[in-house]
Amino acid sequence: MAIVENKQAVVIVGGGPVGLVLALSMQQQGLPFKVLEAHKQGANYQDKRALALSYGSKMILESLGVWQQLAPQVTMIKTIHVSQRGSLGRTKLQAAEYDLPALGYVVSYGAMIQALDSAFDADHILYEASATAIYQDNQVARVDYCIAGKDAFFETPLLVIAEGGRGLNNMPSLKRDMKAYGHDALVSKVRCEASHHHIAYERFTPSGPMALLPNGEHDFSLVWTGEKALIDRLLSLDDATFLAELHGAFGNRVGRFLSVQKRLSFPLIKSQLSDNTTPHMVVIGNSAQTMHPVAGQGFNVGLRDATTLMRQLSVSPQVDWGSPAMLEIYAKMRARDTKGGLLFTDFLVSTFNNDLIGISGLRSFGLGLLDVLPSAKQWLVSKMSYGK
Ligand SMILES: Cc1cc2nc3c(=O)[nH]c(=O)nc-3n(C[C@H](O)[C@H](O)[C@H](O)COP(=O)(O)OP(=O)(O)OC[C@H]3O[C@@H](n4cnc5c(N)ncnc54)[C@H](O)[C@@H]3O)c2cc1C
Repeated sequence: MAIVENKQAVVIVGGGPVGLVLALSMQQQGLPFKVLEAHKQGANYQDKRALALSYGSKMILESLGVWQQLAPQVTMIKTIHVSQRGSLGRTKLQAAEYDLPALGYVVSYGAMIQALDSAFDADHILYEASATAIYQDNQVARVDYCIAGKDAFFETPLLVIAEGGRGLNNMPSLKRDMKAYGHDALVSKVRCEASHHHIAYERFTPSGPMALLPNGEHDFSLVWTGEKALIDRLLSLDDATFLAELHGAFGNRVGRFLSVQKRLSFPLIKSQLSDNTTPHMVVIGNSAQTMHPVAGQGFNVGLRDATTLMRQLSVSPQVDWGSPAMLEIYAKMRARDTKGGLLFTDFLVSTFNNDLIGISGLRSFGLGLLDVLPSAKQWLVSKMSYGK
């Protein structure tokens, strides 16, 4: 086993978008860090899953100088159209009404990773380096990893866990509030007859919410949620039958659906750390919280984890990195935003998703009300654009 030279470096486990945003901010401030990433470089560049970015996340990426490279691959959301199956209630949120260039942006996961990767000095990231176990005490944290078939470890004043929630051996048992929604999400890309005009569609159906996000010149990214049995059945259909069912569930707003790419699914789980203050270790991004994709909040909350931690590192002397005092301030700074994201998401899921008799009238009333209450719409836009 080899010990790394710089024991002052922050070690980030996971070179996903959240870990990389933290790492890039550290690089730009000249602060010492290392990233351990299990995949080889470029392995994710073709990952077509859509990330929904808020206006606030765009500003973060702009300040890091990454947006400029990403911009040609980004699709703007200028309008969000919210509707419900089986009711006339609907509302439209429009960027122009709020003096915003866009309400959000859609970019593929692979394009995001590639843009971030290309901004790094090569020796800061160890690719194909899998963290295998972590340990920590009051002095230091240690992470064991495996690279090219060899075992090694780092000691660090601050170990940042950004591995997307896959789980690591010996991870201290942090308290976590968890709720399985009992639903899965099916994600894919679809092409339809009409062009998208930069409109994102959110549709609440009795079986679960679905969304079409404009992605590219002609395509939409689809997120279709529902009970696992429904999603499993939708996954098993041939393309033509799937597209016909999608048309049935979505209505005729974008015309017929013409083609669908590979369909994937994942379970929807709400999870949040109730304690994120273990000495010399902090958990960020999807490792720290996951939420229902209906409001497009999860990834944006993760990015704000990274930028808040960066701010905390830059104002703390290096001897204090990973100290209980520093981590407590970080945890306090994040608690409100994370809780807000989860509550907002839960609010949307439960308000518009309830299939009890009589409630659908209320939902429809709620959407109609949004259309005539400027302050409620302003709140919705501000929550989606900035998370506050
Ligand atoms: C199938 C799927 C579809 C999704 N679709 C959408 C969507 O449509 N819209 C949306 O907004 N969000 C979507 N999400 C959620 C979105 O992907 C996450 O919000 C976002 O990726 C979180 O970023 P992260 O950096 O925290 O974690 P991740 O993106 O998961 O990155 C974690 C990184 O850590 C690495 N890693 C893991 N274990 C180790 C280890 N032991 N050692 C070293 N490295 C390790 C992984 O290789 C990975 O690169 C989807 C998620 C999934 C799983």
